[in-house]
Amino acid sequence: MSFCVKCGRDCEESLDGLCIDCWLDGRRLTSLPHHVDLKVCTNCGEYEFGDRWLKRDRMVAVQDAAADALSVIRDAVPVSVSTVAEEQDPYVYSVTVRTTCDVMGYEAEDEATTIVRIKNTVCRRCSRQLGSYYEAILQIRTGSGRLSEEDREETLAMVENSVARQAATNRSLFITKMELVTGGVDVYLSSMSLGKSLARELADFYCAETKESPKLVGQTTDGQDMYRITYLVRLPEYHVGDVVVFQGHHCKLTRVNGNGGRLMDLMGFRERAVRRADMSSIKVYEKAEDLREATVVSRSGLEIQVLHPDNYSTVDLRVPEDAEIGDSVRVVSIEDVLYFVP
Ligand SMILES: [Zn+2]
Ligand SMILES: [Zn+2]
Repeated sequence: MSFCVKCGRDCEESLDGLCIDCWLDGRRLTSLPHHVDLKVCTNCGEYEFGDRWLKRDRMVAVQDAAADALSVIRDAVPVSVSTVAEEQDPYVYSVTVRTTCDVMGYEAEDEATTIVRIKNTVCRRCSRQLGSYYEAILQIRTGSGRLSEEDREETLAMVENSVARQAATNRSLFITKMELVTGGVDVYLSSMSLGKSLARELADFYCAETKESPKLVGQTTDGQDMYRITYLVRLPEYHVGDVVVFQGHHCKLTRVNGNGGRLMDLMGFRERAVRRADMSSIKVYEKAEDLREATVVSRSGLEIQVLHPDNYSTVDLRVPEDAEIGDSVRVVSIEDVLYFVP
């Protein structure tokens, strides 16, 4: 048991020789600077907090900025903080921060007020984006030298989705621009690692060939060599569903993924796997969308009779055991002989 040197009261614990009431009397527990500047990006509308840019409602950003600037004296531990903001004009807010502190096991309250000023600026990402900054170019091409509109749209959708996914956790990643060029499309990207991951993603999805070529473009301010990297992705001509030729056999391409593909032989309907390394020797014989339709006349076991799409003669076609045969089937003509395409 000790006593307070100011009021003389007995007290269990003392700080600087004072009881809790005398110690707290007139003492500030918290303080705020005269004003706090809060940067907002005029392009994306995000607010700067430390080294991060965050999307916030303006009133929330203003109150967070004031709370972040709060100082609390050493003997007090803040337990809860609440803020009230009052707009003086759209760029100036008066914010009061009320803090409940724990002082030697006692609860004590204090409040402090500051002015939060909104400062317009452009964040680094936006200034790069507006300045057409890029570190990598993803060149999407095909083996045939012409990228179809369908393939272009499909690959660009994949690229955009992937960038959006990666940018959610890393706001420095963005697409600077996309450019249609002869034979394909060029996608300019803010980062090399983004270019690399997109090239890998496309390569795995389409079994595409990729090639990367760095180009020295200058030096950074601290004397490091600066490179840009071009990632060339050459999409194969084939698509799932096409009739293709592989090692002299006419087959339907039934699957493509990062490990290779699967083919079904049109003569015996046997399926086989193709290693990724061998995929480049697959040649398109007839694209899926160009396959002809033939009207089915009858079925008997492993054979169906159809009308030849050119001369309407009746032709026997071999079909697999489990084939579901409707009113018409897709067929392909190979050396003047018609084959059923499963
Ligand atoms: Zn006292
Ligand atoms: Zn911005």
